[in-house]
Amino acid sequence: MNRNTKTIPFFKPTLGRAEIAATKRVIESGWLTTGPETIAFETEFAAFLRSSTAEDEESIRTLAVSSATAGLHLALESLGIGRNDLVAIPSLTFTANAAVIRHLGADPVFIDSEPIAGNIDPANITHAFKKTEREGRRIKAIIPVHLAGHPCDMDGIRMAIGNRQVSIVEDAAHAFPSKTQAGMAGCLGDIGVFSFYATKAITCGEGGMVVTRNSDYLKRMKLMQLHGIDRTVWNRYSNRTGMRSWEYDIIAAGFKYNLSDFAAAIGREQLKRAKSLLKLRLELAQQYQRMLSDIDELTLPNDCPGHAWHLFIIRLRDNTTRNLLSDELHREGIGSSVHFIPLHRMQYWKKLYNLNPENFSVADKLGEESLSLPLWPGLKTRDLQRISGIIRSFFCART
Ligand SMILES: *Cc1c(COP(=O)(O)O)cnc(C)c1O
Repeated sequence: MNRNTKTIPFFKPTLGRAEIAATKRVIESGWLTTGPETIAFETEFAAFLRSSTAEDEESIRTLAVSSATAGLHLALESLGIGRNDLVAIPSLTFTANAAVIRHLGADPVFIDSEPIAGNIDPANITHAFKKTEREGRRIKAIIPVHLAGHPCDMDGIRMAIGNRQVSIVEDAAHAFPSKTQAGMAGCLGDIGVFSFYATKAITCGEGGMVVTRNSDYLKRMKLMQLHGIDRTVWNRYSNRTGMRSWEYDIIAAGFKYNLSDFAAAIGREQLKRAKSLLKLRLELAQQYQRMLSDIDELTLPNDCPGHAWHLFIIRLRDNTTRNLLSDELHREGIGSSVHFIPLHRMQYWKKLYNLNPENFSVADKLGEESLSLPLWPGLKTRDLQRISGIIRSFFCART
């Protein structure tokens, strides 16, 4: 690498004075854990989702959590998922989806991807229903993951479900904000979960948001989020219920999945930027599409209305080419990543469920041939020109 050339990391969050001021505000307030900032963040996040859709969305409710993983765990628990239940997930996803299912004593059913966006394939869900029903077991929930911010085929998923009793928990970790004809991603199923991890579209370091219209699920998730205590800590210490702060009861073996006011304060500032950050990502994605469109060796990501462009995932001819291109970019100081190595290739899941790559031919190929290029709002046109130039030279040198 030329020492004078700038390195371009795979991702860099957009943080500034507003986030620093928010952190200061929390320190000066003296209240660090879940409190007024978190409550405001929940309200503002719900308002954002409502304002982004045409319909009346008054019933949308939110719960801030310590991570999307925590949110997924709470979501499945509130739906009553337990021992020996089955939950369908794509194989092409992050391990958190499968892990939370195991935490509840249930088993994941891994589903292959459709080839357009790499999302969970409705045809394969139908197949999984039939197979598990023949074995006398029932899929109780499905977790569609809106990969890269490209919405899943929710109509197709509903058709596959038919008249079965199956809950939908959306993993919207990549989909803030993705818009569909039916509404915002995260609001299309029974429960939706967003992530504010350091590399996500908006971040507060670590954090997540759970969305639902169902007050029973929300009530259960609130209880299980904080030790199974029948009152929130903020209500206890602010004496809003008129009870003594130590007067509480435990009604379940709860988790510790609350968000701190530090994180919430940063999240609130990030939320104010969400629309402008989306606009910048959209412009960058369009620039990539234009700059790379004439390279025959590449397959560019599918564009669609309402795409959040959290990731820009290109496809190469084969695994060797993908790896060599990633190495070449690395030599030039440019970060890249893979979303994802499918779970059927991960030793733990592969061994536990005896998974065979042949049953996941689409996800398997995507896992071998995909490469995620840098896509974050601080990138400039000249950065994309440099990245595109390196990719072009890479192919020229090989032919
Ligand atoms: C990041 C991510 C998660 C986990 O989010 P955390 O907030 O880190 O728990 C879950 N699913 C997908 C698809 C992700 O990309």
